[in-house]
Amino acid sequence: MALHLHNTLSRKVEPFEPLDPDGSVGMYCCGPTVHDFAHIGNFRTFVFADLVRRYLEFRGYDVNHVMNITDVEDKIIRRVREQNTTLTEYTAQYEDAFFADLKVLNCTEAHHIPKATDHIPEMIDIISKLMERGIAYQASDQSIYFSIENYQGCGCQYGRLVKLNFEEMRQGERVSDDEYEKESVADFALWKARTEEDGEVYWPSPWGEGRPGWHIECSAMSMKLLGTSFDLHLGGEDLAFPHHEDEIAQSEGATGKPFVKYWLHGAHLLVEGKKMSKSLGNFFTLRDLIEKGYDGREVRQLMISAHYRETFNFTMAGLDGAHTAMARIDECVAKLRDAKADAGDVTAEPSAEVIEKFTAALDDDLNVSSAWGVVFDWVRDCNRRLAENQMDAATAAAELAAWERIDTVLGVGKAEEEAPKELTALLEERAEARAAKDFARADAIRDELAEKGWAIEDTAKGAKLKRL
Ligand SMILES: [Zn+2]
Repeated sequence: MALHLHNTLSRKVEPFEPLDPDGSVGMYCCGPTVHDFAHIGNFRTFVFADLVRRYLEFRGYDVNHVMNITDVEDKIIRRVREQNTTLTEYTAQYEDAFFADLKVLNCTEAHHIPKATDHIPEMIDIISKLMERGIAYQASDQSIYFSIENYQGCGCQYGRLVKLNFEEMRQGERVSDDEYEKESVADFALWKARTEEDGEVYWPSPWGEGRPGWHIECSAMSMKLLGTSFDLHLGGEDLAFPHHEDEIAQSEGATGKPFVKYWLHGAHLLVEGKKMSKSLGNFFTLRDLIEKGYDGREVRQLMISAHYRETFNFTMAGLDGAHTAMARIDECVAKLRDAKADAGDVTAEPSAEVIEKFTAALDDDLNVSSAWGVVFDWVRDCNRRLAENQMDAATAAAELAAWERIDTVLGVGKAEEEAPKELTALLEERAEARAAKDFARADAIRDELAEKGWAIEDTAKGAKLKRL
């Protein structure tokens, strides 16, 4: 079976066939709005995008991954004003925090990370094209708006990702806020004329000083880096309207070409069964969870334990479950490493069976819960064979190679930690002390190693160091 993905445009699971048959894939994921620390709901989307990227690469595609930074929009401007600071100073702190968090979650860094404020000329260019084509207009407030009526008049359809009821649309209405509800569908702002509240946040344009609307930012950055038509656009389902709908309208309105072939939307995250909110006390940033003693890979495992299109209930009990699940994998992998020791450094071909089942699960619209099922069946099977002494070094090497291949997608594995040289030297000294029957010295070395976080494991092949 080939890879199939659910496309929000068609509302169907479709075979994934990139625009370019040479195997290259352009993928855009709406990045963070750096107005605060990102919360775990935001991170569910980024971990989902990382899973898509990693799986495409596992499947042999050459992915060009773009994730933007929204560093100018309504919320940011409000905070800059409230805190009496500058745009760059304000956004830099949250941008740094965001990338540190992504690292903790073991998300692969995008190939391109464009910032909105570095792409104002590209935005002005798209707006100029929309003006030329009569799809945008300057209103009495001097701002430039996208005309839904004129866009539809050109034979284009507004409302591709979500169903809109145009009967209820209030004719001639305009909306200048970056975020609005489906009920208030109306002409939206492409360029917002400078107001007093904007402070020093403004740029020159052919229509006077001002700043871009949020939606135009993603159209400009994605098309600049991936071309007017590209394969994949990802985001949380809350962005489908108006953000993504407006991205399609602006882009196709300006270029006259199809914008994106596949739209993928990740579902919401609930915490302990409820919508996350500060007042309910169930609002968490990644940092809050790390402070509670969980680690990044546990959070990552939990976030990718369920299908991306299912609303996911994130719970502390779930995190404890992730802890246990990770320990089961770690233990099995450690035993396989020991069993493999005799095979030396030869590169083994990954065991095919588990890889085939894992691939079949993810080919089915990234059915990750079924893929985890495959992984845990494999763990159980390896443990049984290890216990029954049916795992020779070559087989262990093949199973380990399979796990390493699978983990290029899951990204939760623990690298084998090698003891630093000075500690292995101590281990040798202990062996000499024991040989010389200096048990006091041997015990002192054992204690010193334990203090440094390493245990001595006596095996048939001599003593080895293991992380405590
Ligand atoms: Zn976006």
